[in-house]
Amino acid sequence: MPKPVRAGRLRPEELQRRVRGKPRRQEAQPMVSVTRALNIRHLSSGGLITNYYCTSRCGHCLYCCSPQWDRRYIDAATTRQNLETIRRLGCQAVHVGGGEPFLNPEGLLRVVTIAREAGVRIEYVETNSSWYRDQPSAATLLRELKDRGLGALLISISPFHNEHIPFQQVKGVIEACRVTGLAAFPWVSGFYKELDAFDPRTPHRLEEYEARFGADYLERIPARYWIHLGGRAVQTFAGVLPTFESAAILNRDRRGCRELQDVSHFHLDLFGHYIPGLCAGLAIRGDDLGSPLNPDKYPLLAQLHASGINGLWAVAREHGFQAKGAYLSKCHLCQDIRRYLVMDRELTFTELAPRGFYENLSAAPHARSGFNDAPDTK
Ligand code: SF4
Ligand code: SF4
Repeated sequence: MPKPVRAGRLRPEELQRRVRGKPRRQEAQPMVSVTRALNIRHLSSGGLITNYYCTSRCGHCLYCCSPQWDRRYIDAATTRQNLETIRRLGCQAVHVGGGEPFLNPEGLLRVVTIAREAGVRIEYVETNSSWYRDQPSAATLLRELKDRGLGALLISISPFHNEHIPFQQVKGVIEACRVTGLAAFPWVSGFYKELDAFDPRTPHRLEEYEARFGADYLERIPARYWIHLGGRAVQTFAGVLPTFESAAILNRDRRGCRELQDVSHFHLDLFGHYIPGLCAGLAIRGDDLGSPLNPDKYPLLAQLHASGINGLWAVAREHGFQAKGAYLSKCHLCQDIRRYLVMDRELTFTELAPRGFYENLSAAPHARSGFNDAPDTK
């Protein structure tokens, strides 16, 4: 089973450790500073994001995809440029994800064709199956993709997806894969029976799952599904998982963010942005990879890399940021600071992109994010 990447996920045991474990003692710790500039010299495993628009607005979506995004799809030049960057930095295979890549079939066929020309193997294309209409049309499209070298689809199955997409469409895509000889990876197959318990012709709200499978259904999901608590997932899970005051988070995590150097789960998108680690909403121009980042061009990334959340906090306070309520983690606080800088202060930073990420953070279309208005005293 390939690693899924659409919503970014932590292994369940790591998630447990990070969000359920007792907070560490809140005694003052020295700030640990990483002095060398962030430098992404090598890429290991990752994907291309073809588009951010999507039929759905899932409550766990790391990249805050939704129908409200501009209907922009990766063009040929950016596809080639991203693939060249990926190869230059030592990676030979990628997956393709979104948004929903199948919303532009011609665009997806173009991406698969260019990847073959560039000598980059596509491991799989992720899909939510919303494009499925009937067997003949699905099989025709899948055959065209297969003829151009595609071998597999990763098919999303979760209660979050089922809030927007009837399960019969998912079953239709699985069947079309079987007919055309494409491999189908249901992600996550453990949810199949639960989705199958409802009428497959309509979407179903999480409340229906809670009514049928228990009031703690949402709370139990992170132990079963590798969800990264970023993007829209923070809003969804802040009500059911433990949260901490910003002071506690700042006090316990004084290291630079080594996660920014993680190249095991990278993404390059339709705007030519490299997304460091799982830090959605942060961006590095693809052509800036391979050499130390200029701190004048990327001041916030320089702070995060050197001093972590405390470095970003210091900048945010200069701009009047005040924490609101409690946070799941340093990444939740980081995201709220970035949302504040982009949406509330309308400030422009090269690394805070794309703007649509911040516009679509909320579960409600174009509503400003905000989970608790209680003032924070730090
Ligand atoms: S289907 Fe859901 S998780 Fe996937 S890209 Fe769309 S909104 Fe995000
Ligand atoms: S605090 Fe921000 S930069 Fe650091 S790992 Fe979390 S999201 Fe990434």
